Amino acid sequence: MNFKVAIIGSGPSAFYAAQALFKSDLNIKVDMFEKLPTPFGLLRGGVAPDHQQMKTVSKSYDKIATNENFRFFGNVEIGKSIELPELKQYYNCVILAIGAETDRKMNIPGEDAISSHTATEFVAWYNGQPSYQNHQFNLDGKSAIIIGQGNVAVDVTRILSKPISNLQTTDITNQAINCLKDSKIKDVYMIGRRGPAQAAFTELELKELGNIENVNLKIHDDINLSEADKKEVELSNKSRKNIALLNEFKNSLPYDPSKKTIHLLFFSSPVEIIKDNNNKITKVKFEKNKLTGEAGMQKAQASGEFFELDCDILLRSIGYRGVPFKGLPFDDRRGVIPNDKGQVIQLDGTPVTNTYVTGWIKRGPSGVIGTNRSDSIETVDTCLNSIQNTTIIKNEDIEIILADKNIKYVTYEDWKIIDQYEINEGQKVGKPREKVTSINTIFEILKK
Ligand code: NAP
Repeated sequence: MNFKVAIIGSGPSAFYAAQALFKSDLNIKVDMFEKLPTPFGLLRGGVAPDHQQMKTVSKSYDKIATNENFRFFGNVEIGKSIELPELKQYYNCVILAIGAETDRKMNIPGEDAISSHTATEFVAWYNGQPSYQNHQFNLDGKSAIIIGQGNVAVDVTRILSKPISNLQTTDITNQAINCLKDSKIKDVYMIGRRGPAQAAFTELELKELGNIENVNLKIHDDINLSEADKKEVELSNKSRKNIALLNEFKNSLPYDPSKKTIHLLFFSSPVEIIKDNNNKITKVKFEKNKLTGEAGMQKAQASGEFFELDCDILLRSIGYRGVPFKGLPFDDRRGVIPNDKGQVIQLDGTPVTNTYVTGWIKRGPSGVIGTNRSDSIETVDTCLNSIQNTTIIKNEDIEIILADKNIKYVTYEDWKIIDQYEINEGQKVGKPREKVTSINTIFEILKK
């Protein structure tokens, strides 16, 4: 017996779901739908351009895509090109691997100022996501402030700090290079609301910040640990490594005031973005925090002590957030689609038939690329437990449905043409690839 599964999204969790489906004993055909013309989700649009090694995992996704039961439909947005209830009629099951598409808000006055952006916007822009290419980032000022201390904050801090020669050999877009090469930013502040023991970044990423050519890393706080911090550090490998490296950097890194500087500040929350009459950001007001609560649960509590920093551009990097999907339940507090081991459930626990989730929309925006493999295996196991009891309502092929609806799509073979085109264009300028950032150009190259 043959089964058909639709996967919505084409990032790492989507490909790991396809891989897990192909590994089962059943004969399963997988159709993967992606709203962008190109595959790989955050692997292409999120992973920093100077982390090329991480992107080589796409080779294993290429291998999954060679399975004769796999098809890719790029430029097809479920919920727009085809509604989910219609799609479900053509498949035994649907797995949503749609990630966390938006970002959290700080909810402070002035957040809408000119030159106040989200890190996700900046990342999508320098990584060539078509819909972000008209965004403008003003790097004419001296001071950039990044709120948050996760690995995304570290990525954007690095991109704003690295010498342009280090970026020119990556797959960052040409447009971003042209903007960054004229950057006047001298001070990049990366600011966390809690302390060094709670920092969300990981040691490897912190190490990179301390090793950028001609750039200081200045750690403003003393690395003193409270009793609760000590307990946390004892229990967390990540925290232990971070603290050791922060101490090492604090004691050993030289500081040359003539150079660009990355400033690490802890225990500080932004409370107001101060603007001029033209709605342009000028300063950010912060309140110092103290930590309260037991080890592992320590929270930032305002102390009543304030300070201000000059600011020409602000990027908030305080975490991604899932968005509701039309027709499906949504856990607004966690920003995920409620589920039981990947099976979508209503808020009262009732299963939504034949509908599954994996990746960030399932568990929230955490973990590294590899985390998605086990996550998708769990979802596919749940799906396989009941797939034999499902039937397809309309046995029609999606290619015909798409043609009937006049929807132009990109196949995996098409993507390989674009892939090669980008690699060739990159080679001309010493880059691993030059991304095509316009959907029209993609279809022109494909002559579709
Ligand atoms: P994250 O790791 O969850 O970090 C979010 C940061 O924002 C934390 O410092 C958090 O502080 C802070 N924050 C949250 N709400 C805040 C508020 N209202 N005010 C001030 N600060 C606030 O998220 P992320 O950096 O977006 O990364 C998402 C995931 O992708 C993570 O698992 C990350 O490791 C992964 N990633 C990995 C790499 C890599 O491997 N190189 C690169 C990029 C991303 P609190 O701790 O106090 O909440």
